[in-house]
Amino acid sequence: MDAGNLAEDARVEATTDADRPAGDSAGTRTAETHFGFRTVPLAEKQRMVDEVFHSVARRYDLMNDLMSMGLHRVWKDLLVSRLRPPKSERAFKLLDVAGGTGDVSFRTVEASGAGTRATVADINGGMLGVGRERAAALGLAGRVEFVEANAEELPFPDKSFDATTIAFGIRNVPRMDKALSEMRRVLKPGGRCLILEFSRVDVPGLDAIYDTYSFKLIPGMGRLVTGDAESYQYLVESIRKFPAPEAFAGLMRAAGLGRVGYTPLTGGIVALHSGVRI
Ligand code: SAM
Repeated sequence: MDAGNLAEDARVEATTDADRPAGDSAGTRTAETHFGFRTVPLAEKQRMVDEVFHSVARRYDLMNDLMSMGLHRVWKDLLVSRLRPPKSERAFKLLDVAGGTGDVSFRTVEASGAGTRATVADINGGMLGVGRERAAALGLAGRVEFVEANAEELPFPDKSFDATTIAFGIRNVPRMDKALSEMRRVLKPGGRCLILEFSRVDVPGLDAIYDTYSFKLIPGMGRLVTGDAESYQYLVESIRKFPAPEAFAGLMRAAGLGRVGYTPLTGGIVALHSGVRI
């Protein structure tokens, strides 16, 4: 365990059942979940999420840059530096779950030696199609593959990846606990699971600015750029419904991950969660 992990572990407190968010498939709260601020049948959420990403796929990357003012690049680079892919020729296999148009995978192989390969797994063919085009344009098609797959049932053998990541994807998955268990299952022992997700702003003053920006500006920006304000209304609402970092750390532990911790980034707008398959 490195010192960074120890420090992170110390910041995470135990979670309780009361913290368990919708989207956890344990217990009796399985019938419903959140789709933004709406409560919807669990079985319906995936179809609704798929519509969002089919609608925005072509303009997804441009909107990410505009909405985050480029910050998503910094957050993803931090994830990759925490991942520490080998600079040498050593073989290293990354699975990027809900990897969409491939950003995390491209950044990982570009930051590493020739032995690193990445698999982007995503449920949405539209997002993967854009990703394949980007891989070809970047000359990375030989090192990054794209697989249509549900995070809740990954079509990969046990212990087959050195690392698993999911960036801004887990809050869209209806049964987050299943996805986390799957991300652990496919990891080799000692392998890292890193999760980048929006979190809770913890800087006084920034929270009010962030709320105004999210709810007043982002849906309008979505309408202008993608012709679809509703999808971006869902995205900002889904951020608010995502569990607080301590509660999410509890879900990671419940999925069997060890050395669980998290680091808030940019005043808590985003958190980088980590765990290890022991
Ligand atoms: N990771 C990429 C990034 O950071 O740019 C894409 C993130 S995008 C906000 C969320 C992605 O989650 C979409 O590509 C969507 O199709 C995918 N997704 C939603 N539910 C999923 C599921 N059950 N299994 C796999 N991918 C899913």
